[in-house]
Amino acid sequence: MSKWRQRLERIEAGDSQTKDQSGGGFGNFDSFGKAVRPKALKPANPTIRIGPDYSDPLDVVDWFNERAAIIEEGCAVSRQEAERRAYECLIVDWLNRATSKQEDSTRCVRCKSAVSDQDAVPVLDGKGGHYVIHDACWPAWMRERRAAAEKALAAYGLSSG
Ligand SMILES: [Zn+2]
Repeated sequence: MSKWRQRLERIEAGDSQTKDQSGGGFGNFDSFGKAVRPKALKPANPTIRIGPDYSDPLDVVDWFNERAAIIEEGCAVSRQEAERRAYECLIVDWLNRATSKQEDSTRCVRCKSAVSDQDAVPVLDGKGGHYVIHDACWPAWMRERRAAAEKALAAYGLSSG
């Protein structure tokens, strides 16, 4: 097993040896110049909902329109550009939610065949874990997931254009 995979598994398991114990420092280095892993970001209140409630179609459309209005005003962009960005926010939110834990990290999440340390790529799953996928499978997997997200959002009457 490669070092990066061991390290990822330790981090996800909450192993204290992988956490920053330097007690501070500057940037990503402690006061002795030793590289320090940044502290994990945690939401201040994990109950705060970032995306819409997908069980309520009106909530999805309301969320989209509200987000587009915020972007339009806050970023001083056209309504069309604001809606494009709001749509991309929904794509990311949907992708983060449409994940499940990879049961077998020795097999590619897309093609299910064995992965070696030479051709495996860890991809964050949006829920604090990761998927292991073949380097060659990654582009197609992302296209497939994006298409699934677009199809899901189309059910709410939302599209990219
Ligand atoms: Zn694969």
